[in-house]
Amino acid sequence: MAASKCTRLTGELSRRFLTSVDTVLFDCDGVLWRGDEAVTGAPELVNELKLKGKRVFYLTNNSTKTRDMYAEKLRRLGFRAEPGEVFGTAYCTAVYLRDTARLQGKVYLIGGQALSRELEEAGIPHLGSGPDPVTGGFKDWAGVGKDPDVRAVVVGFDEHFNYMKLNRALQYLQDPACLFIATNTDTRLPLEGGRAVPGTGCLVRAVETTAHRQAQVIGKPTPFLYNCVVKECGLEPSRTVMVGDRLDTDIQMGSTCGIRTLLTLTGFSSLEDAKSFQDSGSLSMVPDYYVDSVADLLPALRELPQ
Ligand SMILES: [Mg+2]
Repeated sequence: MAASKCTRLTGELSRRFLTSVDTVLFDCDGVLWRGDEAVTGAPELVNELKLKGKRVFYLTNNSTKTRDMYAEKLRRLGFRAEPGEVFGTAYCTAVYLRDTARLQGKVYLIGGQALSRELEEAGIPHLGSGPDPVTGGFKDWAGVGKDPDVRAVVVGFDEHFNYMKLNRALQYLQDPACLFIATNTDTRLPLEGGRAVPGTGCLVRAVETTAHRQAQVIGKPTPFLYNCVVKECGLEPSRTVMVGDRLDTDIQMGSTCGIRTLLTLTGFSSLEDAKSFQDSGSLSMVPDYYVDSVADLLPALRELPQ
């Protein structure tokens, strides 16, 4: 029989769980922080994990920050963090193009500065970032100038996304040999107070719709971020846990990768969501464990030997 799922971690169970873990993969937003504020007790938990010799990595779908920018934000909020521990979609998209796709040519980028910088860092030439005002009419748009060296279209978060960029992406993607990569497919970026703004997934869908093609996705729930950690740093899957606030990205990715999963209730998904996936048999989106907040693990962690 399968082990029981969606168990609250408390007391003795927390101690046994923490003893059985060497590597902790954290989603960031909704888990370690909300907006610009750390979740209470989360920095202490992460720092104590490191003191106890556990390895910590940060896996985020957000493409608007480089590794350096993420490490800086983490440190500003009180977390011990190094750029090499951050596996965000800006960095991992560049890694995918360089090492997996072995791209020979340029990228047409729908995305912001962080993506642009990570591509540069990986030695991948690109164009398209920044505003692209609409000029002319239908005939001009269909004949819009194309760079003959473009071999991939990358779609990430881009606040300057518009009809012109959508059109350029279509002109490139009509060539079936042109790669089509999306950083992530999150539909909304949640903000404080239940507010939200449209996420990268909306831009990806727009480009997919016009291109009549599906993007290859780098972010969770696909296993690519996890595979990057494995390749660069190595880990033992049976002693690794994915901690996240979203069932359809974080928990789904952990299940796909065959590692244990822990849902924290400080973010997007609720315990009711998890229970309803359990009732409908969608077990890959049901976490093995849950806590109200990652800080709940602190007392048990402090009892572990150094
Ligand atoms: Mg999150």
